[in-house]
Amino acid sequence: LSTWASVVQGPPDPILGITEAFKADKDPRKINLGVGAYRDEHGKPYVLQSVKKAEEAIAAQNPDKEYLGITGLPEFTSRAALLAYGADSDPLTRGAISVTQSISGTGALRIGGTFLARHYPHAKAIYLPTPTWGNHIPLFRDSGLEVRSYRYFNKDTIGLDFEGLKADLLAAPEHAVVLLHACAHNPTGIDPTPEQWATISDIVKERKLFPFFDMAYQGFASGNIARDAFAVRHFVAQGHQVAVAQSFAKNMGLYGERTGAFSLTVADPEEKARVDSQLKIIIRPMYSNPPAHGARIASQILGDATLYAHWETEVKGMADRIISMREKIYSILTHDLKTPGTWDHIKNQIGMFSYTGLKPDQTKALAEKAHIYMTSEGRISMAGLNGGNVEYFAESVDSAVR
Ligand code: PLP
Repeated sequence: LSTWASVVQGPPDPILGITEAFKADKDPRKINLGVGAYRDEHGKPYVLQSVKKAEEAIAAQNPDKEYLGITGLPEFTSRAALLAYGADSDPLTRGAISVTQSISGTGALRIGGTFLARHYPHAKAIYLPTPTWGNHIPLFRDSGLEVRSYRYFNKDTIGLDFEGLKADLLAAPEHAVVLLHACAHNPTGIDPTPEQWATISDIVKERKLFPFFDMAYQGFASGNIARDAFAVRHFVAQGHQVAVAQSFAKNMGLYGERTGAFSLTVADPEEKARVDSQLKIIIRPMYSNPPAHGARIASQILGDATLYAHWETEVKGMADRIISMREKIYSILTHDLKTPGTWDHIKNQIGMFSYTGLKPDQTKALAEKAHIYMTSEGRISMAGLNGGNVEYFAESVDSAVR
């Protein structure tokens, strides 16, 4: 008998299951709208020119393959913090941000979850929006936090359930941790307005909650780095202490390079030294130290004015291409096909994903009849659409809802 004879079969990952069904489909019209990775106007993976230039500059420096330190490349982490918090951030100018490189956004969240589980001096419960990125739930549970939820999505309006959100945060126990998607909420594509963020900040202050921002899409949502950092910077300006998980997967297209950062605002440089020491104690037995290449690329781009400007136009190009697809779908459904229902939400949502409002039977029909694959609750990755397939997509949606 094998040692592992009693290991039970686990469920497949819901998103990767979609890709498998897509791969098995032989129809030339097939479209994969499951996976959240950017595709160019020909449906192909896209390596940014600024990234290629950064790689050339790095190759010319002929770097060695030595280990990075436990918390990663120092130029990278300081530039990542600058990108998130902004040059005029008070904790940044005071040397009061503790930051470490991480294995992309997921690793940043996991370091943060573990740090809170170990050092947060209050009850260790974290409130996640419903719905949220599917991986948040097992990630924070495995970190040792108690996972709870707050309302976020209103099915009827296909918009933000702001009343539900406020009621749930007001009812949360003092000092609870609240996870906030900094921009481009995944999976709904629905973000609070700046005014709503200000109200959320007031409630977080009143209830003494601890805000933990997941910032996986800075720049990728609106095309503007500062605009997408509004929530984080507003909270910091309001005097909150925050935790921030950053990813460079989407905004630099560094998916497989696993480039990210985790940071905490702290009281002063003395406290920073203590917090840094504990971050190292968490990271060292987990993976010892992070990979170097992606951090070198991001650092090169963020630290060079010409490359930075080039990168900014490329991020805006990606965001704008997605926004143009939203407008195209809206216009075909509403004006050309007069499809039943309202479709404004597709145009108003932001970032990589859209909650279409399609029901499970409709998404099933789209897969079976039109070879279009998305999650069963109707989330589509906008990046999978392009000039060559958006009309076929809209026509197929029209048939599915009639
Ligand atoms: N957080 C959210 C909301 C995401 O959508 C993602 C990726 O899809 C991540 C974090 C982390 O991604 P990565 O670990 O590739 O940076």
